[in-house]
Amino acid sequence: MEMWLKEAQIEDAVMTYKVKETLVRKKTEYQDLAILDTNFFGRMLVLDGIVQTTIKDEFVYHEMITHIPLFTHPNPKKVLVVGGGDGGAIREILKHPSVEKAVLCEIDEAVVIECKKYLPEISCALDDPRCEVFIGDGIKYVHEHKNEFDVIIVDSTDPFGAAEGLFGGSFYKEISECLTDDGIFVAQTETPFYLPDVVKKVFNDAKETFAITKLFMAAIPTYPGGYWSFTIGSKKYDPENANLDTTVEFDTKYYTKKIHKSSFALPKYVEDLITK
Ligand code: SAM
Repeated sequence: MEMWLKEAQIEDAVMTYKVKETLVRKKTEYQDLAILDTNFFGRMLVLDGIVQTTIKDEFVYHEMITHIPLFTHPNPKKVLVVGGGDGGAIREILKHPSVEKAVLCEIDEAVVIECKKYLPEISCALDDPRCEVFIGDGIKYVHEHKNEFDVIIVDSTDPFGAAEGLFGGSFYKEISECLTDDGIFVAQTETPFYLPDVVKKVFNDAKETFAITKLFMAAIPTYPGGYWSFTIGSKKYDPENANLDTTVEFDTKYYTKKIHKSSFALPKYVEDLITK
């Protein structure tokens, strides 16, 4: 018998993935959690039926959401990840020798537990002594910590359920207060092709809060539309003109210094979305 995961990227467009085995499936306090072993993308984390991360293509997202802000800030020491329970962002953050502490604020402990068990390639750095895993709501955590982090990364699920409050609005003002005075914020901000209104709203909300606000893109096969946006808000340093001459070199599979610069070059339909 064949098994397929059917992922409704939007109501009228569905992706299907051939599944070898269901490794775990449970209803947590916050969401439906599954980790599946699939024929082409390998093991993948699926939350509420939406593919979050896969062994095959996770490197794109986790390298871009971390190395763009961390190579923009001249000396990032303390980093906060909101969401990110799979540990992929933490793994990439801790490659930066300047980082002394990386806090992961994940609302659903089951995600951390199951990703440690079934996705060790992604969650491997969660036990690093520089990583602190805090189980709780990122909205509350950010509100309760002021002037504390050089970089804040919102590595969340899509804008509904527990993650809805992480997209724009007053949350970005709270993020700004949680950052140091030369801090940088970045968030995954959805697909410009399928959810243009979300991309536009979130970008404009960030622009109201941060002196420098830019959008950068990456090609992620398992994300709806295969072309994904990230919004970066910076109090002082321009990510597009980051000085990469002296940055440390380490292993990556997607991020390069050229990609750092070129990821800010937007197709006209995306440029129009955030400028008109
Ligand atoms: N890193 C994955 C990727 O490559 O796209 C996706 C992100 S990670 C799995 C998303 C996490 O955000 C989920 O584990 C979810 O539980 C968490 N999350 C959602 N809302 C949250 C909130 N308000 N505070 C903290 N974590 C939240």
